Amino acid sequence: MWFDLDCPVCGAPPCGPGPHLGDDGLCPACVARCRPAPEVPPLRLADGGRLPVVALLEYDDASRPIVLALKNGNARRLARRLGRSVALLTDARDVDLVTWAPTTPARRRARGYDHAEVLARRVGAALDRPVRATLRRRGDRAQQGRHRADRQAGPVFSPLALDLAGTRVLVVDDVVTTGATLAAAASVLRRAGAVPAAAVVARATDGTSGSLKAGA
Ligand SMILES: [Zn+2]
Repeated sequence: MWFDLDCPVCGAPPCGPGPHLGDDGLCPACVARCRPAPEVPPLRLADGGRLPVVALLEYDDASRPIVLALKNGNARRLARRLGRSVALLTDARDVDLVTWAPTTPARRRARGYDHAEVLARRVGAALDRPVRATLRRRGDRAQQGRHRADRQAGPVFSPLALDLAGTRVLVVDDVVTTGATLAAAASVLRRAGAVPAAAVVARATDGTSGSLKAGA
């Protein structure tokens, strides 16, 4: 139905018959405004390891509504294109398994889905790699809205009982800001024997240092 294809970001309707907006409905104007993310330095982990991170977009006025629509709006539609695009940043030959850093159980219940999981499933499909939950999030505290110092401590994850020894795991998320979430997830995966890397839709600076910092 044509009205399902309005751009989920700006609301632009399709301009007639035909696939003008693509199967995700994102309009060309919204795509054209986005800027590619610069190269992201690896995150330093508390255990001394480093986590390579690739990002698709710079988090700004153009990409913010796309990320928010993925998070709070019709995620599945947008996740298709974003997942494919994020997958292009990664060589499938370097990935054995795709996973995600789970959102809080309260947010998952409120939204009806975990946007990071929806995205990870699309990335995995594009890379033709298995997608599996590997982490459990303990507690209901979200990163968003917490004080910066608090955020840098990172959410607490525990590993699901999986044999990940030597498995190259790609952790997918929507945005990396301080890197605390990804660093916390990566540290747990490393303790479980995995070799993690990360891929995200957008890279945001934390507004103070202008660069990413792993706090956990
Ligand atoms: Zn649009």
